[in-house]
Order: sequence, then C-alpha cells, then structure tokens
Amino acid sequence: MSLKIFYNQGVGIEFEGKRILLDPEIETKTDLIFVSHAHFDHIQNIESVTPKISSLATKDLIEHRTGVEIINPINFDYFNFGKLILKQLNSGHIVGSTSLLMEAKNKKIFYTGDICDRHRFNLKAAVVPKSDIMILESTFGKEEYLFPPVVEVIEKSINWIVEQMESGYSVALLGYPLGKAQIITKISEIFNIPIIVFDTIFEINEICRKHGFELRTQLQYSKYTDFIKNEKFITIFPNSVKYVNFLKSMRTKTPIKIAAFSGWAIDENYKQQMNVDETFPLSDHADFNGLLKLVKQSDPEIVYTVHGFKENLAKTIAERLGINAVPLNDGDSFSFL
Ligand SMILES: [Zn+2]
Repeated sequence: MSLKIFYNQGVGIEFEGKRILLDPEIETKTDLIFVSHAHFDHIQNIESVTPKISSLATKDLIEHRTGVEIINPINFDYFNFGKLILKQLNSGHIVGSTSLLMEAKNKKIFYTGDICDRHRFNLKAAVVPKSDIMILESTFGKEEYLFPPVVEVIEKSINWIVEQMESGYSVALLGYPLGKAQIITKISEIFNIPIIVFDTIFEINEICRKHGFELRTQLQYSKYTDFIKNEKFITIFPNSVKYVNFLKSMRTKTPIKIAAFSGWAIDENYKQQMNVDETFPLSDHADFNGLLKLVKQSDPEIVYTVHGFKENLAKTIAERLGINAVPLNDGDSFSFL
C-alpha cells in the first residue's frame, strides 16, 4: 500500500498512483476533486475539466452562484476511485455539505470539510464515522469559541423579534446568504407577518427547497419594495456593513431594528463592527468543544488540522485527548506504508 497525504493550498491524497484534491484553492495535477460545499472559499478552479465529486445540492448551488456549469460532475454517495472507496456523508454545515470518507484496504481517512455537530431545523448534525486518519477543519479551534445551545439562541432571537415588533418596529435579520440565511428564514416562519427576503437569499432558498430543506414561500425583496413603505415586516438580508447601511437608509412605514446572526457574534466587538442593534451567536460550524467531540467520535490514530486556529486545535487534541495531531501547512507531505 502506498498512501500519501500532502498539503498545497488544500489537502491532497495519493493512493496507489491516483490523486484526489479536497477543496483545493489551486488546482495542481490530479485525477479527481472533492468539493465539500458551495461556500466561495471551497469552490476555486470550478471551471476545470477535472471530474468533481460533490452532492447534487452542492453542484446546483455552485452553478447558481458562479454561473459556471460543472463539467464531469460525480454526484454519487458511494464512488470507487482506483483502490479507494469514497463515501460522502452529511457534514451538517449547510444545505448540500458533505464530508468524505476514503477507505483504503487497511486505512480509513475522514476529511470533514466544514462541519457542524448540532441539529438546526432540517439540517441534521454531521455523521461521524470511525477513522484512522482524520483531517479536521479548525474554524473555531480556540477555547473561547463556545456557543450556547442552538435552541437557546433561537429562543432568544424569537423573544427579541417579538419585543421589537410589539414596540412598533419592523425587523431585519442578517446572515450569510448560504447557510445562516436558511436558518434565519426558518426562525422567521413562526411569525404571522410578511417575510421579505433579499434576492440573493431568495434564489438560494429556492434551490435549498428543491433539495429538501423545507421552507415556506416568501416575498422577493425586489418585487416588494413598495410594500415596505406601507406595512410592517420582517426582512432577511446578507450580513455585511454595506447592507446594514442600506437598511438604515431605506424609507419604511415603521423604523427598523437590525440583528445579525453569526458564530463570530461570540466576540464582544462583533455588534459594534456590524453596527447593528443585536447579535446572536448562531454558527454553521462546530464550536471548540464540538470539534474535540468529533475527534473522540471518530477516534483516529492521527488528526491533521486545517484552516482557522489549526495550531491551537492540534495542540489541544494532543494534550487533552492524547491523540497525535498535526496542523497542515503548504509543502507538508506524509507517507503511510
Ligand atoms: Zn463553509
């Protein structure tokens, strides 16, 4: 058996002469590319002719977001790749997101992609297989990133919305258009009031609905600009300062209160940075304890950490769990015989 794991602006696996790149930032010589989900930092080089394995939802979302049709897509849950068996598993991060389990004869390699260990409405928590080698994302791989339970955050946000509406305000809820915005849309569905969704989110919601994420039909912002001048409403917008300023300049019947949803809301400065009235720490990723829990569940011999706070996470995994852990950097290459 000849197995190599290497890192060059993305993780690569070489097994018995065949190569697969996992969410590569650049494309180097390879036989196959795995695309874990449709966030922009995971969909570079999408125009190339190299076969790409992803879920069908990820393929549709990428094609919608980039306008590029994926050539040679592979959308199977199971796929034989040379002498490796590839299995896509739900990673719980956003609609369509998958992890990849690569089974060689006597080694199981588990690449998490971005991963979330918590249920959020129709998004089920990640499936975590046993593995020998785990390649783990580290977005929130620092001790201070601990999120409250999802139910608690959702309850608080609902109470906040009720308070604002009872005080005579309309409400704007902000989140990343793919991921957070679908969760916020679900939260808003409990209110019996028109929900006006910004166009990029409206279009993404339509694709998510097609792939099984149940959502009611909402109103598309560009078609209801007059409505907000005459009625009270809840609106859902992308979370950036640009849109906060836009919302504050809008002429509406009632003044608007604005809340942003993000895992980064755990930072004290986030509210001020975003210039919003309230923030809620709702994330599409596992928090620090969640990442450690995922490692325990998968129970590998070695963990390679990538992205985010990878050094700190690797150090903690080694210290607390007694599992060998190494942060991956450009130029790294490890062979397993
Ligand atoms: Zn992501």
